[in-house]
Amino acid sequence: MNLNQLISLTILWLFRLLSKLIPFDFVKKMNKGKIILPFYHSICDQELKHIKHLYPIKSVREFEKDLDFLLKHYHPVLLTEKLSLDSNLKDQFLLSFDDGLKECYEIILPILLKKNLKAIFFINTGFLDNKALFYRFKISLIWEKILTDGLNPQQFGEITKQFNLENYREIENYLFSINWSNQHLLEPLASIINLDFEDYLKNSKPYLSSTQLEEMQELGFIIGGHSHTHPLYAKIDEQTRMNETEKCMEELEGYRNEFSVFSFPFSDHGIGTDQLLQMKEQAKLNYLFGSAGIRDEINLFHLQRIPMEKRTVEARSILCFQLLKYKFLSILGKNIVRRSQWN
Ligand SMILES: [Zn+2]
Repeated sequence: MNLNQLISLTILWLFRLLSKLIPFDFVKKMNKGKIILPFYHSICDQELKHIKHLYPIKSVREFEKDLDFLLKHYHPVLLTEKLSLDSNLKDQFLLSFDDGLKECYEIILPILLKKNLKAIFFINTGFLDNKALFYRFKISLIWEKILTDGLNPQQFGEITKQFNLENYREIENYLFSINWSNQHLLEPLASIINLDFEDYLKNSKPYLSSTQLEEMQELGFIIGGHSHTHPLYAKIDEQTRMNETEKCMEELEGYRNEFSVFSFPFSDHGIGTDQLLQMKEQAKLNYLFGSAGIRDEINLFHLQRIPMEKRTVEARSILCFQLLKYKFLSILGKNIVRRSQWN
């Protein structure tokens, strides 16, 4: 670890400590008028095997607690033409949910309706109606099966020989290093351990159906794009980015509300300003969303959201930390995300 990393870690640790001690209203006042954009993937009281080894999800109780906190300190806002510009918009929040999982309809929607809240649901069109499974979910399922059932000597032998690995640790590292471009490598692994992704899709139905999506849209929720098959945009070429974005937005045309919106799968890190403009123009988008926490962008159509899925951390601590960090970055003049022109 070099000195800069040590300083950054110390500052982050200090912010985490302060975020537990300082009254929230004080931190909020320091960043008056800043719109808060929290986002989640799923909410569920049961374990979801396809997510279990990727990130923690909150229970219904924890989610409702988050919402109550947000409603106590902020006003829910709908997407408007002037979302990031209107100086009259004070202390507002806008919720969103990525990946189009079935809990969005079965669990989240009833809670939002009960609390009279609206939100954006960002969908991967390649997975809608359980047509296919996100490669990261496949990774979680494979690892879960290996941990639960173990590998018999024949399976262990086949995996270690075929993939040139020596032990469980190496199998785990190899599995979790598989990415969008080489996701075909997951199939032989699944086959050795007798895991059938089609069966999982058919039996567990992890994604929303188009009928559910239609109903959500009719209830006034905004349906946005999240790419067709969820690649990390920084790791694919410009043409593939455009294909993924346009295909997704075209397939969502039937669910369009007043606004056409898109959230980057994983992250928008490393995406240049010209690419953002090209995506906005060609895919006819009103807003693009990232997941970098509370940060500003040069392009006002581009907004950054706050990841809320930290199982033991409630909304208060997450927001307090984000607001403190944002204030600190603002003082240093580093609150605006730096982007090159293209990549
Ligand atoms: Zn996603």
